[in-house]
Amino acid sequence: MSNWTRDFFIYLSQNKFLNESAKKWGFRLGAEKFVAGTTIREVVPVIKKLNEKGIHVTLDHLGEFVNEKKEATLAKEKVLEMLDVMHNENLDSHLSVKLTQLGLDIDFDFCLENMKEIVERAKEYGIFVNIDMEDYSHLEDTFNILFELRKESDLVGTVVQSYLYRTADDMEQLKDVRLRIVKGAYKENDDVAYQSKKEIDANFLKLAKQRLLDGKAFTSIATHDHHIINELKQFVEENNIKKDTFEFQMLYGFRQEMQYALKEEGYAFCTYIPFGQDWFGYYMRRLAERPQNLQLIWKDMLYD
Ligand code: FAD
Repeated sequence: MSNWTRDFFIYLSQNKFLNESAKKWGFRLGAEKFVAGTTIREVVPVIKKLNEKGIHVTLDHLGEFVNEKKEATLAKEKVLEMLDVMHNENLDSHLSVKLTQLGLDIDFDFCLENMKEIVERAKEYGIFVNIDMEDYSHLEDTFNILFELRKESDLVGTVVQSYLYRTADDMEQLKDVRLRIVKGAYKENDDVAYQSKKEIDANFLKLAKQRLLDGKAFTSIATHDHHIINELKQFVEENNIKKDTFEFQMLYGFRQEMQYALKEEGYAFCTYIPFGQDWFGYYMRRLAERPQNLQLIWKDMLYD
């Protein structure tokens, strides 16, 4: 996809008016293929089906860039309710959260308090909490909140992005932390991030290999890129890396057959399942990444 098309969808993903409006539209533009439902109750059968195949899931109640305390508190309540359901239904799952949904843009301490409540409940249930990584302007705060939370529980981790120059250094500080490695989904300037796919992919492989060799904490390799997956599978074989030290992760609705195949080949696999009414920003980033998803828009417009 050309850079301007990618930039256009990323711009849409951050547009507050469209994000707000989309909550009232219901799923549109093909989003239902990538967002599993609007409520946790609707999503439970989807999770159980994946669990039956031995696939672990990580659950994200969609939402980001919240500017009002009331909204962030509501988001926290929803996450606590999710944790109760995950525990009561005995789902093989963990939590993914975005800090801007829980008030990071309002006040650092307010967000930290919200997260402390979430982490405390998750710890009671033995559920791991992963903090998604958002755009670069939130990176330092995300690490600071992570380190605060880890004073209370080991069951908290985060995400590192291979498009950032600094990630190798960050990973040195995060050797004991469970991490998800991704390429990075936001638009960042060339003073902080690689711009070409070639460099981003090369850095992904370098970071993942180093991390798998270190083997100090669990690693999630989150990509739909079969070139990267195949190279890492070979690397794992050649270096006798234990299969219980890492997993592959993909997003719900993407490359379903490959998700099942990896599991059947004996790799641990986790599907990232987003749900909720706040689907617009998440979906626009998926369109920015993959032109083929656009076809779903045309179909939707023609048949809706
Ligand atoms: P791409 O670079 O998009 O694709 C590479 C190649 O793979 C393509 O050229 C194509 O050949 C093939 N391919 C890709 N998708 C398909 C498909 N559907 N069908 C067929 N072939 C395909 N980003 C963040 O910034 N923060 C996060 O917290 C975060 N969490 C994530 C969690 C998960 C589980 C995943 C999978 C991604 C997450 N991302 C996150 C997004 C990530 O940063 C990338 O933007 C996104 O995954 C696209 O990059 P890719 O590695 O999947 O492959």
